[in-house]
Amino acid sequence: MYHKYDANYTMIITNSTEHMRELAAIAGKHKTLGFVPTMGALHQGHLSLVKTSMEQCDFTIVSIFVNPTQFNDPEDFKKYPRTRTADINLLHDAGANMLFIPSEKEIYPIPDTRVFDFGNMDKVMEGRCRPGHFNGVAQVVTRLFNIINPTVAFFGEKDFQQFAIIKQLVTQMELSMQLVSCPTVREYDGLAMSSRNSLLNDKQRALVPLIARTLFEAKDRVKYTDVSFLKTWVYNTIDANPELDIEYAEIVNASTLQPIDAWGDAEHVQLCVAVRVNTIRLIDNIRLK
Ligand code: AMP
Repeated sequence: MYHKYDANYTMIITNSTEHMRELAAIAGKHKTLGFVPTMGALHQGHLSLVKTSMEQCDFTIVSIFVNPTQFNDPEDFKKYPRTRTADINLLHDAGANMLFIPSEKEIYPIPDTRVFDFGNMDKVMEGRCRPGHFNGVAQVVTRLFNIINPTVAFFGEKDFQQFAIIKQLVTQMELSMQLVSCPTVREYDGLAMSSRNSLLNDKQRALVPLIARTLFEAKDRVKYTDVSFLKTWVYNTIDANPELDIEYAEIVNASTLQPIDAWGDAEHVQLCVAVRVNTIRLIDNIRLK
């Protein structure tokens, strides 16, 4: 396969499911396929996944699809940033081998009515605040996995709950692919990179680094604070800013996603938050233990 520095390097772009399936099957015969699913409006966080895939796999496929079934709020779907030309240029410069950029009809020729069961994993945090969200994520991810049949799929730790649920999905469906979770890429001031950050105005942008700063400080406080006190402290610290409306701050067992009561309740503990800035919703998380 051509490397991005080869004179013959080119990125294949297709919007056809059939074409994507065919090419992935051909490439997958002799090569390991790395797959990075995205909703576009790409930033360095997405590109770090692409880079990791290129390091670990022979052939890297990226998809861009703003999946309607995972949006419980039609307004949010409508205003989700779409920057197709810039995305194509970024992926080409990064050296991705193939971009799949399907229409809604290509992914859902008929409505997807499948209902997934993740037990308690989607009853908390994002699943609780955005009913149906993870069912929509599972619908699109299983379709994309089915079309591409990757060797490894790469996701960001930024969407912590999503990764845990996709891991569960892959186990439930007995898929043989590997899943890799990549660290959250942050702006210079700590703000987790997100496509939604581009929707913030200057004043809002100046305020939101408080979210990451609070998470970093919470990690320092673990040594001398109990779980429920720390949770309340995080909640109040963010909520003290009248422009920031915190939806949840949860301290959870990273494998079950269920809230814990004491530090000894889990080996790996994650603090996850969702914050609204007017109509823009941002999420972030940090490992506490
Ligand atoms: P999205 O386009 O928001 O659906 O994200 C596509 C993939 O990129 C998901 O696996 C995200 O978790 C990941 N991602 C988004 N933001 C970041 C970030 N700041 N750092 C690392 N990965 C990210």
